[in-house]
Amino acid sequence: MNLPSFATALLGAALLTSLTGAAETPARADEAKALPSLNMEATVKAAQIDPRRAGNTLTPGAKAGVLLVERALRDRNLLDARWVDGHFGTTTVAAYAKYQRSLGYTGLDANGLPGKTSLAKLGAGRFTVTRTIGPGARVSTGGVIVNTRTRDMLAEAERLLGRDLVLEQGSYNPGGDPTSAGTHDGGGVVDISVKGMSSATRTAAVRALRRVGFAAWVRSPDQGDWPWHIHAAAISDTDLSSQAQHQTGDYYLGLNGLANRNPDDGPKVTIRTWEEYQRR
Ligand SMILES: [Zn+2]
Repeated sequence: MNLPSFATALLGAALLTSLTGAAETPARADEAKALPSLNMEATVKAAQIDPRRAGNTLTPGAKAGVLLVERALRDRNLLDARWVDGHFGTTTVAAYAKYQRSLGYTGLDANGLPGKTSLAKLGAGRFTVTRTIGPGARVSTGGVIVNTRTRDMLAEAERLLGRDLVLEQGSYNPGGDPTSAGTHDGGGVVDISVKGMSSATRTAAVRALRRVGFAAWVRSPDQGDWPWHIHAAAISDTDLSSQAQHQTGDYYLGLNGLANRNPDDGPKVTIRTWEEYQRR
């Protein structure tokens, strides 16, 4: 071996070492970034539908995210291993509510539905959260309180309908209307006046509300202790009360959202959340 080629070999080895050395840091950074991602929209969808299913069928597209949540709950000793199955049923909802209470949350913040903040905390070091949903701040509109997500949905429904909607009851209204059985306690839920609306207009209003992501129905006096009105619950609003979560879950399952769980009596519309509607 002559000297120049020996030097070249040495240089080559040094280069190799420095290259592999340099490559190590980015590799570690990639590893940290390679946490699985959890689709919040799909997970929240399952958390509404699965507790309402008769069996333990999974919600399509939600299994991976639900499993990430369930394993994290199991590791915190909040969920028995036998419930780690990708089905966000009543036991998982109860475990999630327990987890929310363990963070010091109370009331709606411990409603068992994964919210942006609690999910991010649960995922620390385990998963990253994508497709996040936020109900937004509470605002006053038409004399009632709703959150900004609901307000924007109502504005878009009015645009589709070509007519203003008058709110009779808003959200975050615990005990405001004893006939509502808790559905208006949380976010995402409104009652709309049908005064001056023909039967066809009522149906058109429900269709517009459904198109933008509400589970909405015309309610008649023969269904309950209430006058004619439209009841609407914003699908996947993470502030939904338990009762309203059941209604949005039932809506996905083709039911009417009432205690009798009769078939849906409203206009058929492709079911989309507000986020899905905005991406359509
Ligand atoms: Zn209502």
